[in-house]
Amino acid sequence: MQPFIYERADTAQQAIRATTARADTQRDTQFIAGGTMLLDLMKLGSMQPGLLIDINDLKQNYGKIEATPGELRLGALVRMSEAESHPAIIRDYPVIAQTLQLAASAQIRNMASLGGNVLQRTRCEYYRDPSWSACNKRVPGSGCAALGGVNRKHAVLGVSDHCISSYRGDFAQALVVLDATVHTIGPRGARAIPFEKLHTSAAKPSVETILEYGELITGYRIPAAPWTKRSVYIKVRDRQSYEYGLATAAVAMDLHQSKILAVRIALGAVAYKPWRALEAEEILTGKTLDEALATQAAEAAFAHATPHEHNAYKVDLGKRTLVRAVMAAAAMEV
Ligand code: SF4
Repeated sequence: MQPFIYERADTAQQAIRATTARADTQRDTQFIAGGTMLLDLMKLGSMQPGLLIDINDLKQNYGKIEATPGELRLGALVRMSEAESHPAIIRDYPVIAQTLQLAASAQIRNMASLGGNVLQRTRCEYYRDPSWSACNKRVPGSGCAALGGVNRKHAVLGVSDHCISSYRGDFAQALVVLDATVHTIGPRGARAIPFEKLHTSAAKPSVETILEYGELITGYRIPAAPWTKRSVYIKVRDRQSYEYGLATAAVAMDLHQSKILAVRIALGAVAYKPWRALEAEEILTGKTLDEALATQAAEAAFAHATPHEHNAYKVDLGKRTLVRAVMAAAAMEV
């Protein structure tokens, strides 16, 4: 592991100042909370920050779960395990609890923060192992070893000639279907961003979000909407525990007597970033649901899929996962 400087911040302003103070020479500072991904990648050598700012002392301000009749507020320093077992979240926002419960291991969820969760890096082996020289995400302009390599777990939606990595997190799909807003604070002040806009496209793989250097996620706001209680997450993976998804689908639905008044669908592990299935939503909205309609929606969601040598199976798997999630949401008793 490369040597690095470690500092603790007492306030968000102190954390941000530490990054900008160093930015003139090197933009190599990382915030650290749970560190469950960052330390892993530092040991592998695929991330080599020169300065780590420990933000755990900001928990007083950014470590709360607040559920009101109008919305759910989640602080960025809430641990995954805290949110997944919160009674109001389990009752009123079940898709959030499910995405968290199905992720990683209990030990990791005790450490990992909700802010860091949505910034987790790809699991692409060529990214994680720096002995592979061709990876546009790690070294811009170097190529993509996965295009002609082992790409079984890579994406079929939203890919480019520069990168075909898949987004393997879970919690982000819940935030997409619940129309969440992510709140940040950075060198230019605070801002609120529709969560769907946070992650960027595969056109420039080395840049994964619209966050600026030194900008810190402080939390999320999730409006209580007609679809929040009827929300579900399906995750298909190689084994049923401690494993990333191969195809996942989150669905939030407003249903009245089998008629879908509104629906939001997000796909994971099959796409470059948390992927809203707008075409599928359009087919379902205003219709009376049955499995044939859900299948039609799934076909539309994957109509523009771009499979590679080892991941063509994800097209059918992704469709079946979407159908399962839609039918499961409709079958919920709320
Ligand atoms: Fe790198 Fe993306 Fe290619 Fe993987 S798929 S090697 S992360 S550029």
